[in-house]
Amino acid sequence: MVDDSGAPRVEIKDPDAFKAANKRWVEMLRNHPVTGEGLPALGTAVLVNVINEAGTLPTKNFRSGRFDHAQAISGETMAETIEKRNGITTEACHPGCVIKCSNVYHGKDGNFLTCGFEYETIWAFGAHTTIQDLDQIATLDKMCDDFGLDTIETGVTIGIAMEGGMIPWGDGQAAIDLLSKVGEYAPEGKIIGNGALFTGDALGVDRVPVVKKQALPAYDPRTCKGVGVTYATTPMGADHTAGYGVTANILSVGGTIDPHKNEGNIELSQGLQIATAAVDAAGLCLFVAFAVLDNEDGLPTIAQMLNARYGLNLTPDDILELGKSILRNEKEFNKKAGFTEIDDQLPEMFNEPVPPHNVPWDFTIEDLQKTLNF
Ligand code: SF4
Repeated sequence: MVDDSGAPRVEIKDPDAFKAANKRWVEMLRNHPVTGEGLPALGTAVLVNVINEAGTLPTKNFRSGRFDHAQAISGETMAETIEKRNGITTEACHPGCVIKCSNVYHGKDGNFLTCGFEYETIWAFGAHTTIQDLDQIATLDKMCDDFGLDTIETGVTIGIAMEGGMIPWGDGQAAIDLLSKVGEYAPEGKIIGNGALFTGDALGVDRVPVVKKQALPAYDPRTCKGVGVTYATTPMGADHTAGYGVTANILSVGGTIDPHKNEGNIELSQGLQIATAAVDAAGLCLFVAFAVLDNEDGLPTIAQMLNARYGLNLTPDDILELGKSILRNEKEFNKKAGFTEIDDQLPEMFNEPVPPHNVPWDFTIEDLQKTLNF
């Protein structure tokens, strides 16, 4: 908890201009179906059924894009459970948010179990490991919060432990017992706590979904190629938030690009990685991107808010240039740290076609290098 008593208010250089831009901004967020309806109602878990339906919900360590038990771990089931147990379905993670995609999830006993229960977490501990019990997944989420672990990395790691025979597939109680070893500093906990690649190496597992040693998130790159290009090429390692190609690939936000074909997806990822670097630097939550991509005055409104706050004269092009310069710096950092174009690829396991659409990953190294070549 941060104690802000006695702290000065944030200085706004031109309060009237800021108010006017902010009014337009809030309208835009409230009027968009994703930021105004889907996220407030079901949180990011709204995506479980959508992504499963699209055949791109990675299941049993990326063996399929469909999970037979998706409904049991869906946003709809989560919201019903929260309501039944008097939790909170629509909550802001900070006081100024108008989207409010967060939540408070209570256990069977009606007491607090976890909060900020998200799609990525539900996928990583759910479809990826084939655990179907939402309460067990919520318990694993809470344990990660307590231990300070990332839920995507840890969920993928638990799946690798299943792949390596440490615990059975789909066994939620065994996953809870294994994860508790991290808090006990037990030898198995030291392996698991070091992430997916470390665990795969320790158990002799070849099938480990990582890029630059970071675990892949909740969209199969073979059937959502825009985000796959981002996983491969972002300087941060497999990170969907660096260029969320799910927008045009699956959600028809900011246009439509075929998620199964290579055409157009390098360009999609490039545009999104530039815009995302800029949105992140502006201090905005990434979820505003849905409304920004579908509104011509999205980027200009961000420019107006920044100008009013700091007394600047930025244009939308300046903001995009800012995004490019951030990515150039990150690439330069990686180069000096020893990364090469070989690291901008997905692991071999993705060369296999994935059901139900039976699409492989087949971008060349040369093609992928075009993504951040500016
Ligand atoms: S700031 Fe972003 S993550 Fe937090 S509740 Fe709002 S939309 Fe959700």
